Amino acid sequence: MPLLSLDDIVVRFGHGSDAVTALDRISLDIDPGEFVVALGTSGCGKTTLLNLMAGFLTPSRGRATFKGTPITGPGAERGVVFQHGALLPWLNVIDHVAFGLRLKGVGKAERRQSAAEILRLVGLEGMEARRIWELSGGMRQRVGVARALAADPQVLLMDEPLGALDALTREQMQELILDVWSRTGKSIFFITHGIEEAVFLATRLLVMSPRPGRVIASFELGFSRRDAAGEASSVIRQDPEFSRTREQVKALILARHEPIGDAA
Ligand code: ATP
Repeated sequence: MPLLSLDDIVVRFGHGSDAVTALDRISLDIDPGEFVVALGTSGCGKTTLLNLMAGFLTPSRGRATFKGTPITGPGAERGVVFQHGALLPWLNVIDHVAFGLRLKGVGKAERRQSAAEILRLVGLEGMEARRIWELSGGMRQRVGVARALAADPQVLLMDEPLGALDALTREQMQELILDVWSRTGKSIFFITHGIEEAVFLATRLLVMSPRPGRVIASFELGFSRRDAAGEASSVIRQDPEFSRTREQVKALILARHEPIGDAA
């Protein structure tokens, strides 16, 4: 059985002539261990899709289910990593990561131990006492990933988590996310504008088009599994198959993109 399913989903915002169809007849399954990436230009409905999976909004039509049970709100089995990662800047790193466990009533010693293990997983060992505002953008995103992992979710929903990072940090974070994915075996749903990032990370890449938001193509890819198996990312990125896939995806997106200044 798929972990998470969307069945014939439509999401409309507003009413009458102001209504926007953000998602139109989307059906997709996320299976255990998959790394599904939704790629598309701004406004094609990526965040709306993630918000449905997170239970932050309900569809106008269709069904969203987790292991066959309708999604009616947020749940610990679906962890969300937001665009700006660490959300509680007044806390130190370890308290930030342990925050969800505190809300769940887990005792102090246990939550500190579990947060410390997760911080090791995301490469933040030794940073436990730092305040969030002292950290670089990449480190904040590591804290965001660690916070989401602390509740031991079955799927991580990542909303453009690397969009604000410089190119070098972004590539390092892609490696880190693949490392977390392969070590924990969690399923990931990840949204991005970045074509190369999408091709590198996805085991299944969904290309979306805007107005209304639809999935226009789906690719089964193997580059992230090669990285997880230990092949150097520089070798993978230079593989002619990688460049071909990237160009194919780019052509699909450009074909649907309205030229700037087009009044139609
Ligand atoms: P970006 O990459 O810029 O974040 P996106 O692909 O995530 O964009 P969404 O944020 O899902 O796109 O938005 C899809 C469409 O729905 C857009 O046209 C947006 O303006 C509209 N929309 C999203 N949320 C609302 C809302 N709460 N009320 C009205 N319209 C909305």
